[in-house]
Amino acid sequence: MENQQPLHPGLFSWPDAPSQLLGSRCQDCGEHAFPSQHSCRACGSERTEVVGLGNSGTLWTWTIQSFMPKAPYQTDETPENFRPYGVGYVELACGLKVESRLHENSADALRIGLPMSLEIIPVRLDHEGNQLMTFQFRSAEAL
Ligand SMILES: [Zn+2]
Repeated sequence: MENQQPLHPGLFSWPDAPSQLLGSRCQDCGEHAFPSQHSCRACGSERTEVVGLGNSGTLWTWTIQSFMPKAPYQTDETPENFRPYGVGYVELACGLKVESRLHENSADALRIGLPMSLEIIPVRLDHEGNQLMTFQFRSAEAL
């Protein structure tokens, strides 16, 4: 079993269960941010705390990425084996809209307002052979 690590530490709680996004909440005005911020973009307060942002939301808008993005896109894919994927903004319960890769990759499977749930997926191996993991959302209706 290879070692699995988050691609970017601090974005989500995995491997702690339940997996959920991590962001920050301003203790003065209540503004949320993702990724977490040390100061509040709304009021400038530096009294922020890391909070769980949950693992579900609704699809706010989306598109299909049908060609391989330029660097710094880093996976083990090549232009020859690249598979299109969905990308969108998912609106969380706190009102934040989070940009995310989507499991679905066809226009038939996506619509604005679709209930979405978080999942943790492998991205690629790093130079030490660790499996790097990231998050994406998928339709909660397809589960
Ligand atoms: Zn604030």
